[in-house]
This record gives sequence, structure tokens and C-alpha cells, in this order.
Amino acid sequence: MPNTQKYPDVMDKLVSLAKRRGYIFQSSEIYGGTGSVWDYGPLGVELKRNIKDRWWNSMVRSRDDIEGLDAAILMHPRVWEASGHVAGFTDPLVDCRQCKKRFRADDPKIKGTPGTPDVTCPSCGNKGTLSAPRMFNLMFKTFMGPVEESASVIYLRPETAQGIYVNFLNVQQSTRQKVPFGIAQIGKAFRNEITPGNFIFRTREFEQMEMQFFVKPGTDMHWFEYWKAERMKWHQSLGLAADRLDFHQHTKEELAHYARAAFDVQFDFGGTLGFQEIEGVHNRGDFDLTQHQTFSGKKLEYFDQPNNERFLPYVIETSVGCDRTTLAVLVNGYREESVEGESEGRVVLGIHPSIAPIKAAIFPLTKKDGQPEMARRIETDLRAKFPVDYDETGSIGKRYRRQDEVGTPFCITVDTDSTSDGTVTVRDRDTLKQERVAADRLAVFLFERLGA
Ligand code: ATP
Repeated sequence: MPNTQKYPDVMDKLVSLAKRRGYIFQSSEIYGGTGSVWDYGPLGVELKRNIKDRWWNSMVRSRDDIEGLDAAILMHPRVWEASGHVAGFTDPLVDCRQCKKRFRADDPKIKGTPGTPDVTCPSCGNKGTLSAPRMFNLMFKTFMGPVEESASVIYLRPETAQGIYVNFLNVQQSTRQKVPFGIAQIGKAFRNEITPGNFIFRTREFEQMEMQFFVKPGTDMHWFEYWKAERMKWHQSLGLAADRLDFHQHTKEELAHYARAAFDVQFDFGGTLGFQEIEGVHNRGDFDLTQHQTFSGKKLEYFDQPNNERFLPYVIETSVGCDRTTLAVLVNGYREESVEGESEGRVVLGIHPSIAPIKAAIFPLTKKDGQPEMARRIETDLRAKFPVDYDETGSIGKRYRRQDEVGTPFCITVDTDSTSDGTVTVRDRDTLKQERVAADRLAVFLFERLGA
């Protein structure tokens, strides 16, 4: 997909907003930060959790053909030999002898061939200082057992999928699911990326939401198409603009040797980053189950009772990054606009109401005449149903701006009339329309507008 730069680059502004308002902080910031590791603050953790909940509800809870799983991060080291990660999960790395910076050998900023005198270092600009590429494994290694020397090397998983493959028969037999069926899980994954960056786009610790759908060979392309369409619908349901979403079909060169077909769901992050993968939908054939069967020596075949046959199912995988989706939601929602009649513009995080961290903010217009008390009562009542905020400091205009900037879809103001007639003003973040609503109808009013 060409980078048409239809949308502006808002990344720097987002990084600053995210820190200022408690969405995302750099990890261990007081020590100077940890490279490409991020912490989710009070609002970020809510947004990310809402995204994970939507995925879990649509993939697991609302379906009778997908089961949930929460497999451990640490797995038997042989798993990663079987999966091909020990031998093949590598990136070609080049070093600059002069400035000590590291790059992926295929970094488009490198001019010339690394390891030859004609190459130029993209960082310090010296000629001939970049080493020839060496393969670098992206898996984090650690040790299991108390004595480092004699303990076995163990890996932090670089993807969650293997936990699903090794539990395929456990889940199938304990739930008596019949093929076709799926197993889904959400969990942390770790990759020692050479060139991480772009905020939470590529990090060394991240979360994946993965689902493996086990199907009868021969029906795989049907299910592949089905899942492609389902996953695109899910991204649209998050409020991501349709023209910022696209499919990218893996070319022959990109396709893994075992893969029968692969498409990425891409999102336009704006600026020069442009369209980038947020999810992969893959037809993996029976590669993974065959590998684990061979390496473990345990049969992983499915027994199809009605037809009295045994076979290794094919797998359709959907693998989406939770952090990358969170970034897409933030980028998609960020906008700056002028406000009629006001000199100061506003920054809005136009996040879909269903995933917004705070659903409504309650303001008393003044700090007297029983307004704060009424506003507090409304807050208590609504807080039992969804996250809300209470704010009585500064002008109403300022309070609106603060909520717009964090993406709160509704602001409720208690004013002089409220205490006598029991109604309040509800202001919509996007349309700026204000409606008079009976305080005791607020919960119903908001539920109708928050969406599923
Ligand atoms: P990329 O080509 O961007 O490195 P990938 O093809 O290696 O990604 P997959 O292994 O298919 O990615 O992982 C599935 C999803 O996990 C990706 O679509 C992405 O959303 C997420 N993901 C992968 N690596 C990272 C990372 N380092 N940081 C954040 N999210 C990641």
C-alpha cells in the first residue's frame, strides 16, 4: 500500500498527550527509560482493557465454537525448536563501527551494501563503517532453576499461539468441541526487536490477541475467507475509519514456506508511517500440529467420530496486537479543531464511546446552591454502572476541553435549574449538542448512546 500521506503524522502530539493525561508512560522513566517498553497509565489501562474485552466477547463469549485459554508465558524449550523460532526467528542485523548504532540490514535508510566500503551509515554518515549482516534471534532468553550454569535455557514467548497448539487436544477433549472450532487467548509476548519504535507500534514487550481455528483440510480456504471478513468487521466496529483500513496480501516472497495464504489487516497511521500491519490472518495448513507431533512424539490427531477418520486439522490463525490496535484507536481518534465563537481550539480524542476509558464527566456549574451535592449524587449513581469523572475546578469551557482531550463522550452539567427541576445538561463530545435530560433518566440515556 503506497504511503499517500492522506492523514497527518500525529505521533509526537499523541506521545505527549498520552503522558500528560495518564494514558501511556515510558517504562522506568525516572531511570532514563527502558528502550521501547511502555507502561499504561490510569486511562490507558482502561482503553486497552476495553479493547481486549471487545475482542474476547466477540471471539469467545458470543460464540459456541471458540474456547478461551490462558497458557503460561514460559514453555518447554523444545516448543520453540518445533515452532521454528530457535532456528528461524531472526532478523539480519548490521552495526556501525563508528557510532555503534544498530540497524536492520533491510532498513531503507541504509544506502549501499552493508559490509562493503560504499555503504553509508544512516546515523553518523560515515562511509564503509557498517558491518556485514549477522542473523540475530529475537527471542529473549532466561534461565530456569536456581543455579544459572546448570539451569536450562528458557525463552519468553515471542507469540501466544504455541500455547494454543500444545493444548489443542486438552481443550478439544475437555470441551468435546468438534472440528471446526477455535481456541483463543490474550497474553504478553516478547521480542528483542532490533529497530523498535513509533511509540507502542513496535515494542519489546506487548500483548497479542490470537485465535487458532482448527478445520478439516479442504475446507480451509472457506474458513480463511470467513475470518478475513470477520476480523475486518471487528476493526471497523472499534470505530476505525473504513478508508484507513485495508488488506495486504502476502506476496510469494513474504509468505512463510508452510503458509497456504496470508493477509494482513493494515491501518493508515498517517504521515510517512502510513499503512502498517495491525493483524495477520493466516492459513497455516497443518504445519504447527505436525511439528509438535514430531517433536513431542505425541499424536495430535483429531478423531472425527461420525466418519470414523483421524486427521490433523488445518489452522486458520487470526493474530492481532493489542498495543498496536490501541495505537490505531488513538491515532484514528486524535483531531484538532476550532470552536465557533472561541479563540482557542480544542483537541479531541474521538474514541468510540464503547471503548472510551471514561464514559461521562459530571460538573456542578458552581460550587454552591446544592449543585456539588446533586452532581456527587449523580456521580455515585453512574459510577456503579460505568467509569465516570467528577470535576468542579476551572471554567466549564476548561472542563469540557479536559474531557475532550481524553475522549470522554459525554459531559453532564448540574446548573441552577437542575436543583429545582431535576434536569441536567448533557453535552455530546463530537456534535457539541446539548440536551436537557432528567437526572433520574441519565443512566438509560447514556447506555443507549454508549453502544455495544
Ligand atoms: P511485523 O512485521 O510488524 O514485525 P509480524 O508480522 O512479525 O509483525 P506477527 O508475528 O504476525 O507480526 O504478530 C501478530 C501481531 O502482533 C502483529 O500484527 C502486531 O499487531 C503484533 N506485534 C508483533 N510484533 C509486535 C511488536 N514488536 N510490538 C507490538 N506489536 C507487535
